[in-house]
Amino acid sequence: MKCSFCDGRAIITQRHPGLHLCKEHFVEGFERRVEETLACGSMVKEKEKIAVAVSGGKDSTALLFSLHRILANREVELVAITVDEGIAGYRDDTIKAARAIAGQLGIELHIFSFREEYGYDLDEMVHGKKVAPCTFCGVFRKHCLNKTAKRLGADKLATGHNLDDEAQSVMMNYLKGDFERLMRFRPRRAQPGLVPRIKPLRAVPEKEIALYCMVNGVFSESRECPYANLSLRADVRDMMNRLESLFPGTKQSTVRGFEKMTARAQGSYAQMQLASCRQCAEPCVKQLCKACELLEQLKQEK
Ligand SMILES: [Zn+2]
Ligand SMILES: [Zn+2]
Repeated sequence: MKCSFCDGRAIITQRHPGLHLCKEHFVEGFERRVEETLACGSMVKEKEKIAVAVSGGKDSTALLFSLHRILANREVELVAITVDEGIAGYRDDTIKAARAIAGQLGIELHIFSFREEYGYDLDEMVHGKKVAPCTFCGVFRKHCLNKTAKRLGADKLATGHNLDDEAQSVMMNYLKGDFERLMRFRPRRAQPGLVPRIKPLRAVPEKEIALYCMVNGVFSESRECPYANLSLRADVRDMMNRLESLFPGTKQSTVRGFEKMTARAQGSYAQMQLASCRQCAEPCVKQLCKACELLEQLKQEK
């Protein structure tokens, strides 16, 4: 198959726009989309320091690599943060991968562990529990990333969420009927104490991210988290993949539709005022933040 733009051999077919792309045109298109996402949300400004959450998996590897390229001629500082949740047999390899990519690009890497920050590994936290491990992990990861991004003086926190993740999150909140949460998903203004989060890869489908890593020689053998199949997200992911293959463009329209809806709802929905946690001073809704609430529970159980 020939590239739609040149005589080169196509390495990917994008069914939705209906294009065949060679390696060069694929990489160019990929980085252009990331650049457009950055520009349209005015996500990055000159002189800013961007903390990039790097797990060592393919998403964050592609994120760090593409940002490093796209921002090369701009006065923007990149710094990488890795959270070691403490998942036996999984995390050690991904931390190695995170070190390798940060080292290759000459970007400073800071590693923070659940054990040091909270006193427990994720494995210990969820041992013998009925609650999905992803609930614990998600709460503590978010808490840890925000705290450490502030500690490093970052203006923004970039995460590797891709189009698939975004479509899944929108769909999960629809399924749960959680309107509040759905609206919080796209905050309109900065909240005190919260480092604004940006998702530069949110327009890029997951399978293109793997390919981008591969053609740039930064492919990391990314094993799936051993807890991944225990969540609602796994079922939603399968459903969305089935729909996408039957009706190309479904993921994109799911996210677009949601964006139109939040734009309309602006004004009729008041953004929540955040307080600060009496334990850790991180922003929260109630007196205790979710992380401190879970920690209290853990202490009582031990
Ligand atoms: Zn081409
Ligand atoms: Zn707290």
